[in-house]
Amino acid sequence: MKEKNLWLKYEEESLESLEKFNKGYRKFLDAGKTERECVTEIVRQVRAAGYQELSEVEGGLKPGDKVYVEWMHKSIALFQIGTDALENGMNILGAHIDSPRLDLKQNPLYEESGFAYLDTHYYGGIKKYQWVALPLAIHGVIVKKDGETVQVVIGEDEEDPVLLVTDLLIHLSAKQLEARASKVIEGENLDILVGSRPLEGKKKEAVKARVLQLLKEKYHMEAEDFMSAELEIVPAGKARDCGLDRSMILAYGQDDRVCAYTSLMAMLDVPSVKRTSCCILVDKEEIGSVGATGMHSRFFENAVAEILNLCGEFSELKLRHTMANSTMISSDVGAAYDPMYSDVYDKKSASFFGKGLVIKKHTGSRGKSGSSDANAEYIARLRKVFDDAEVAFQMTEMGKIDVGGGGTIAYILAQFGMEVIDGGVAVLCMHAPWEVASKADIYEAYRAYMAFLKDMGRGC
Ligand code: MN
Ligand code: MN
Repeated sequence: MKEKNLWLKYEEESLESLEKFNKGYRKFLDAGKTERECVTEIVRQVRAAGYQELSEVEGGLKPGDKVYVEWMHKSIALFQIGTDALENGMNILGAHIDSPRLDLKQNPLYEESGFAYLDTHYYGGIKKYQWVALPLAIHGVIVKKDGETVQVVIGEDEEDPVLLVTDLLIHLSAKQLEARASKVIEGENLDILVGSRPLEGKKKEAVKARVLQLLKEKYHMEAEDFMSAELEIVPAGKARDCGLDRSMILAYGQDDRVCAYTSLMAMLDVPSVKRTSCCILVDKEEIGSVGATGMHSRFFENAVAEILNLCGEFSELKLRHTMANSTMISSDVGAAYDPMYSDVYDKKSASFFGKGLVIKKHTGSRGKSGSSDANAEYIARLRKVFDDAEVAFQMTEMGKIDVGGGGTIAYILAQFGMEVIDGGVAVLCMHAPWEVASKADIYEAYRAYMAFLKDMGRGC
């Protein structure tokens, strides 16, 4: 808290690179509004920076080599091989690239009272009332029976139509306004309005028929193809500078793409390293890190095994050593202190804009339940790394005790016996369609991650 506000600390040169960095960040957010789009954009960027897919590696791996493993187009792990033996562990940055949203159901299209709708099932923790009466876009894939994959983005180009979930007019809302906020908008009512014009000559469900005709023309798809589609409904529109002073970024999906991007950039910019650097950008965190592409999946451990093998070092025991000797920052967002809702925060332990990386010794809820509580010894080493690199950080908790809580992927990697701590960027309106972060904190997170990759464990 005594630390100076970052905006007052940065010299002219840093302010310039801060703005440049945030422009890149905004572009990344616009390119990646789903986990699949993020992976596509990350692959593009890492390949341009000299990374190779692990399966393309010929011969073995040596210090300085840069490789990635892409998993089912939804998760990705990057490695830069260090000069030290892998068995001594890696420095790992881990963020997630999935964000709360509305997913289309597998049989979504229906007609009611002259309107055509797409039925949805929300993904992740949302306040349902926030998703009505705002322009929405569809992003995703339709996979045909013959294996062809059609990429879909509707609602982002200025000429595109947008979609929405309707809200009840205020004039008839007396009863709705009495309801608890969690019931104001029901999950089954989060259906997307997609049409109102009937197909000529068709008597039954003519509006739905016309929507299907349009989908057939544009995507060569039948109604059945929704069964094998993953179509995600997200707020339409680009990331924007926020505030009259342009000190913030307003965008969809900053949890956790703000940490994904800063981790990615640190990984791309870090010079040759002693300890192998690693960056994991994963799917499914918002629903418990489950499934083949979530952090609980063995894909990451398998990737490390492959890498050990290509270094000519594989054994089951060395794999376990590599994991246990690693150090990690679970890079995920923190709840920024919001003076409009001051009663839920303990101000002495809250995260503030402009104060740098948000470090959480533990997450969880109630009596720290569900948390991986970082060790004091590890925090001491981290403090030294950050202080030596003159990186600003704040030690925080999410909110007051017993008002709620949350978790990240930290505890999953901690199961290997490695040192893990949570460190990320403070965000306002977390999980809302539009979230806000400070440009200064975004830039400082990048600096912090870079220092971590470079200097954590140096000399061990
Ligand atoms: Mn998160
Ligand atoms: Mn989240």
